[in-house]
Amino acid sequence: MYMMSKEPNDVILICHDCPHVERVDAFDANAGSRRTQAARAMQVHSRDEHGAGSVLTPVPKDDVPIVP
Ligand SMILES: [Zn+2]
Repeated sequence: MYMMSKEPNDVILICHDCPHVERVDAFDANAGSRRTQAARAMQVHSRDEHGAGSVLTPVPKDDVPIVP
């Protein structure tokens, strides 16, 4: 997991489990939403570094089923 921090001139994603950050401004806007790219990069980091599952589905399994 991560949390998002809005700096005065920047938006950064901060890893919940380590000091790793992804800077939204570091991504190329021509490739699509920079925030989406940063979120994706953080998910890859979280999975690779912490063995976390997809943080795209934070809803507990025994919660109300959500059809994709
Ligand atoms: Zn981390």
